[in-house]
Amino acid sequence: MIAEVIVDITNDQVDKVFDYIARPDTVVGERVTVPFGKRFIEGYVLRLKEKSELSLTLLKPLGQPKDDYPVLLPEFLALNDKMRALFHLRNVDCMRLFIPTQLRNGKAKPLYSHFIELTESFDDQELLKNTRKNATKQIELIKYLRPDNLYAKTELNKKFGSQNVTKLLELGVVCQVTTAIHRAPQFIKREDKQVILTNDQEKVVNSILKNRQKVHLLFGVTGSGKTEVYMRIIAQVLSEGKTAILLVPEISLTPQVLATFTARFGESVAILHSGLSDGERFDEWQRMRTGQAKIAIGARSAIFSPMQNLGVIILDEEHDPSYKSETNPRYDTHEVAKMRGEYNKCPVIFGSATPSLDSFYQAQQGEILLHTLPNRANQKPMPNIEIVNMCDEMRAGNTSMFSKRLLDELEKVVRDKNQAMLFINRRGFSSYMICRECGYVAKCEDCDVSLVYHKEDNLLKCHYCNRRYKALTNCPNCGSSYIRMGAIGTQRVVEELRERFPNVEILRMDFDTTKNKNSLNELLSKFGQTKPCILVGTQMIAKGHDFPAVTLVGIINADMSLHFSDYRAPERTYQLITQVAGRAGRADKEGIVILQTYTPRHYIYRFASNYDYLGFYKKEINLREVTHFPPFSKIIRVLVTAENKDEARATTARIYSKIQDYFSIHRDEFLLCSAMASPVTRIEKKYRFQILCRFLLNTEPEITNFIFDTVSNDKHPKSLVFVEVNPSNMS
Ligand code: ADP
Ligand code: ZN
Ligand code: ZN
Repeated sequence: MIAEVIVDITNDQVDKVFDYIARPDTVVGERVTVPFGKRFIEGYVLRLKEKSELSLTLLKPLGQPKDDYPVLLPEFLALNDKMRALFHLRNVDCMRLFIPTQLRNGKAKPLYSHFIELTESFDDQELLKNTRKNATKQIELIKYLRPDNLYAKTELNKKFGSQNVTKLLELGVVCQVTTAIHRAPQFIKREDKQVILTNDQEKVVNSILKNRQKVHLLFGVTGSGKTEVYMRIIAQVLSEGKTAILLVPEISLTPQVLATFTARFGESVAILHSGLSDGERFDEWQRMRTGQAKIAIGARSAIFSPMQNLGVIILDEEHDPSYKSETNPRYDTHEVAKMRGEYNKCPVIFGSATPSLDSFYQAQQGEILLHTLPNRANQKPMPNIEIVNMCDEMRAGNTSMFSKRLLDELEKVVRDKNQAMLFINRRGFSSYMICRECGYVAKCEDCDVSLVYHKEDNLLKCHYCNRRYKALTNCPNCGSSYIRMGAIGTQRVVEELRERFPNVEILRMDFDTTKNKNSLNELLSKFGQTKPCILVGTQMIAKGHDFPAVTLVGIINADMSLHFSDYRAPERTYQLITQVAGRAGRADKEGIVILQTYTPRHYIYRFASNYDYLGFYKKEINLREVTHFPPFSKIIRVLVTAENKDEARATTARIYSKIQDYFSIHRDEFLLCSAMASPVTRIEKKYRFQILCRFLLNTEPEITNFIFDTVSNDKHPKSLVFVEVNPSNMS
């Protein structure tokens, strides 16, 4: 037999499958050692076949398996083909997604514990006779052991000396029993909360269970009890002997979420998150693989959990950008979930209070089934969102970053010993220009997206059509010279707050303050215990936290993401506002949201403050259609980076000219095809260039395939080239 093997090395040239002569006991999916050139490396058996196209004399024999089970489930071998076709990944990229690094590099191994017991056919007198008379310790040990009892070997070694334990093992007086220990992640223990489903929830649960082979979108306002719906469906599939995967965005993978699930499902829950040690991660993976764990909960990469016989796959907060991997290997979790759903013939559920435009559009097209939970489970109204015009503040002489309304509300929080969350929006490297007098923001005349300021050449550029504009010194709208880059950091907000409220605890939560493994949890638990308290943070505070004493949510600079140079900026802004607002007034106390903006009349704020998702959706999808943006078109960016600028430029030019040849024949489908330096021209010493293509979907997927093929056929040893589909970060 011949084994087709994927070798575990990264090299553009080596995305091949190699033939080896199989051992008689070779199984598909096993991890093996293979001779490769002059070395021995790790590989995975993808397939077995009768014959190779190469002559047998050229083939080398397969080495020994590294594990006593095939590490790749049959499902993953099928998934490999599908993912390669859709995301243009290399075999080795897929394998690395399927198999935890801890297993691949041998960093984590099972943790064993050894026990000693008396051998069954043990004859007291006989043995004592055979043991040397002066071996008093050995005799003591034999007398100490009771039949049918297990003793920890380390304990016996300590008490009687390891040489004596070894001796008795050699004599066969005692034998050793070895078991693997489960290194379990820590979680909070909590009582399970039993509720009776509302009529709406009941309808959703039944409808999903009736349509098992479908993809579902669960659109339910914050607090509508989506989690309870997930748990009921999971309980049902578990009772049928099946398993489940629940994905949540990494930053909302909070101890509270885990506690909720372990309270109901106990030991059947396995957890994968970035805070686990290598050993814990390895053991959780093994518990999933062997079926000890029935429910896998984790962030994006947990979609590759080795669960067998899946009964349901759930993506909670499905709109979250983190479901798209934007670094290598690039893939979209939604699509992988659909592939696994199809393979297992099980339902896939996307859940959100603010569904992504893509998913909602698919639901409207009838491709996925829509379910709605329009009301909060506890019947509480959503907090009132009050819009404050920061231009008015400026005109009234208030140049601080806090409006008078926000300060008044903050004082009230402090007086009543409640809590406030202040949200600052920061993402990406790029900046937009905004007039602080009138709120004017520089936009592209052709594309209606905010222009990005490029410091090096002091120009404003459109990232979608490459049009350039002179940087502004005065506002073209009102003439004011208060035209600035719109960026404020959490640190500045905290400093100003400390001056204004010297006696109040002020906490900061952002990427910098939560780098350590436990700092996020510590911060959250400190916030939970401190009153009054103001928590200042980025996106992180928007997710899933449940703090009953929060009565005020302030959004310092709502516009920030609105003017981000991404066509999805309005969508993201709507999602963020709704989520942040959902943090206020969750318990008995009523909540209020103060939203500060320089463009109060923007349609997003009208829809968001009325919690009118459908209104927002209709407006936004219409805009996408008339401006030919996704889902009505596709954007592809080819990103080229190299340490040598000329090298990067030459690679870009070479690939660009090939794409242009194609473009000149298919001009009708293309909306844009251009090459330019990236907005951030250099990152980590590497120069960056990009080719942007935007095209209609008529000839999809041919154009996409053409671009991927062009890049993979181009030889560029000194440049790195990435192809990105509908990227959200264009810096
Ligand atoms: P979502 O995930 O939609 O934001 P959750 O599932 O977190 O909402 O539910 C919000 C709150 O409502 C939780 O405290 C939950 O225990 C409670 N809840 C959910 N369903 C019910 C129900 N049927 N009856 C009473 N309370 C419920
Ligand atoms: Zn433009
Ligand atoms: Zn102005």
